[in-house]
Amino acid sequence: MSDTCTIWVCRDCMLHHANGECGSCHLDEGHDREPWALEPDQSNVTMGMLDEQHDCIPDWDGSRIDCGCEIKNFSWSSCEGCGSTLGGERHAFTLWFDDDTHPADCMCMSRCWDGPDQ
Ligand SMILES: [Zn+2]
Ligand SMILES: [Zn+2]
Ligand SMILES: [Zn+2]
Ligand SMILES: [Zn+2]
Repeated sequence: MSDTCTIWVCRDCMLHHANGECGSCHLDEGHDREPWALEPDQSNVTMGMLDEQHDCIPDWDGSRIDCGCEIKNFSWSSCEGCGSTLGGERHAFTLWFDDDTHPADCMCMSRCWDGPDQ
């Protein structure tokens, strides 16, 4: 079974994953960081979080259409895709690793290891 973890990325990174560009691409000042600079291999990244990571109760058919688990409206924590420290939306993504290869320097580590349920 593959190891996975959840990372939180900024709106620019989310839009780059979905569309290949974002609203900041066309501004004079551009991005404050290059989107996904910390995770350039997008084949290992999927949008959203795994079912077991949700705090919400799914609908009777297992859907979670209106749940808010996968978005934080505002956070000052740095983007785990590009490292931007600008405050703003954070979107959940899932990082996928091969067996037992969750890297020791993974973005999630500081957050993972000091969580109360780890
Ligand atoms: Zn962009
Ligand atoms: Zn949810
Ligand atoms: Zn970002
Ligand atoms: Zn991780």
